Amino acid sequence: MKWIREDIRDLKAYQANEGDYKVKLDANEGENLFVEIFKNIDADFLKDLNRYPNSNSDLLREEISKFIDVDMEKIVVGNGSSEMIELVMKAFIENGDKILSFVPTFGMYNVYSRIYKAEFVGINGKADDDGSSSPMREDFSLDIDRLIEEAERINPKIILVCNPNNPTGYLMAKADIEKLLKNTESLVVVDEAYIEFAEGSMIDEIDKYDNLIVLRTLSKALGLAGIRLGYMLANAEIIGWVNKIKSPYNLNSLTQVYAVEAIRNSEIIDDYIERVKVERDRLSEDLEKLGLKVYDSSTNFILFYSEIRGLCEKLEERGILIRDFSGGLENYYRLTVGDRDENKIFMDALKEIVKDEKS
Ligand SMILES: *Cc1c(COP(=O)(O)O)cnc(C)c1O
Repeated sequence: MKWIREDIRDLKAYQANEGDYKVKLDANEGENLFVEIFKNIDADFLKDLNRYPNSNSDLLREEISKFIDVDMEKIVVGNGSSEMIELVMKAFIENGDKILSFVPTFGMYNVYSRIYKAEFVGINGKADDDGSSSPMREDFSLDIDRLIEEAERINPKIILVCNPNNPTGYLMAKADIEKLLKNTESLVVVDEAYIEFAEGSMIDEIDKYDNLIVLRTLSKALGLAGIRLGYMLANAEIIGWVNKIKSPYNLNSLTQVYAVEAIRNSEIIDDYIERVKVERDRLSEDLEKLGLKVYDSSTNFILFYSEIRGLCEKLEERGILIRDFSGGLENYYRLTVGDRDENKIFMDALKEIVKDEKS
């Protein structure tokens, strides 16, 4: 097609797993926690669906503000943290700017970088051309001092830190992120999609650093991927700029209503988070007992390594979806921690597959 931009010609559309399945453990979705609470929502809002929504989602931002104790002037909301990532790039990226992150990490950083004409530089576990060691160690943990050196050398406009990291599950210590913030001129964007399962959020530090942006979502720990709500936190000046480029009415009224209700009742996630941690540790142990290499996780998923050929397909034949990877991560798999029953179905199937392998 002759009109399409040269620089995005080989982009592929995002492929979600939407076939039939019995157990879905491929997208880090949480449990459906708010069904009963949502049933009590007053249908009164329906009478206003002919009107545009509140453009800046004021009521919702007020609720989020109470929930996390951050002024509402320092909050922007939108369609998932995916929109937040885009808004950051829209506001700050000029042609050819560099975005520094690591690999493996959330794949959309690379895609959005291309779309917004930035050069994505992903630090991986390999040594540099000059032989200097990588900031990323073999177990996907990070050497913060080496990362700061690389940031200095590469001079990116933005450093994108997924913390805890998807798909590795690795959590960078808060002290390390603060060290990075103090030692770089770049904007540091911390994607905290999974932080509820861990500790060390940066949201309390947004006034302390003029170069800090934090992204959050309701898609994972709150189990609300279907309503598409993400939010951004930063000092009022950054938020002011982001608001100038945000589309008006970017968040629909239904999401605003449901998200307000969820956040007012968000204490119900505490139990769930504890359950996920127990299940996660049990799953990790079970995987290790099968002789698989398992990575420590601070999230609701587990990265593991297995040389079983076509493991994903074999699980899929049994109605179970997990996530595999290409591009240097062959033989690695990301497994979402499900509920007790789902995890058992998965483990039983995996044991069978391992047994077949050996016979
Ligand atoms: C799931 C995920 C997101 C996307 O979240 P949405 O709010 O659903 O758009 C963003 N970042 C990371 C690291 C994720 O894993």
